[in-house]
Amino acid sequence: MEAMPMQRTRILAFAVSAAAALGAGLAPSQDGALQDEPVGYTDTPFLPGGKWRVHDAARPVPPVVTPGATSGAPPSDAVVLFDGKNLSAWQAQDGEEAGWKLVDGAMEVNGTGSIQTRDEFGDCQLHVEWAAPAQPAGQSQDRGNSGVFLMGRYEIQVLDSFQNRTYADGQAAALYGQKPPDVNACRPPGQWQSYDIVFRAPRFEGEKLLSPARVTVLHNGVLVHDGVEILGSTAHRSLARYSPHPPKGPIGLQDHGNPVRYRNIWVRSLE
Ligand code: MG
Repeated sequence: MEAMPMQRTRILAFAVSAAAALGAGLAPSQDGALQDEPVGYTDTPFLPGGKWRVHDAARPVPPVVTPGATSGAPPSDAVVLFDGKNLSAWQAQDGEEAGWKLVDGAMEVNGTGSIQTRDEFGDCQLHVEWAAPAQPAGQSQDRGNSGVFLMGRYEIQVLDSFQNRTYADGQAAALYGQKPPDVNACRPPGQWQSYDIVFRAPRFEGEKLLSPARVTVLHNGVLVHDGVEILGSTAHRSLARYSPHPPKGPIGLQDHGNPVRYRNIWVRSLE
């Protein structure tokens, strides 16, 4: 059979979508409000689950969220946890003021201890930017070590893993002590890097684990964990295990003694 020329494929695709638009009336406006003419159908087959039909006229449209102007900037429905101005969303682990240093629109680990958000989160999308010290010092786990702790207990490792060998499940973006990232996407020390994390909290019923936590992580835009099951609370030299905890917890940043910097941190709850 002769392959369909590209031009004809495009025309056909246009004809199909034009016919759909005519048959269905006008599209929803930008704010999601339906325009005068009804859109969608009431006589099409039901999708699996039996709730909505194909092109269902009554199916609610998703809310409009304005994306950040640049990649990584907080979208309109995000809770901004750090914008470079102050540490008001954070506290020390004992509830005292967060003691990290504000410098050049970033906050820097300074030996005063790990910090955590005042607010608590369960299922969430989290954006974090960090930079290891520009002048690398130390090796393996002693080089640009910090960490992002989901619910205060599940660590996504922060480490200068640019030409710095350490154990695989302890390098940058590792689920510490559990799973290395699929690739090493680390930038050189001193450069800003990003984690985009989609986290699903574990579910408990009393003492019993109903479902483990799951996490998807992009390091500098590169997928490094894809819906990976977390084995339990982060542990050092021992197996991670779950212990029951409330459905929400703080987001923590680790003070591991290295002056790692953070900026542009925001979160979207996925309730
Ligand atoms: Mg760490």
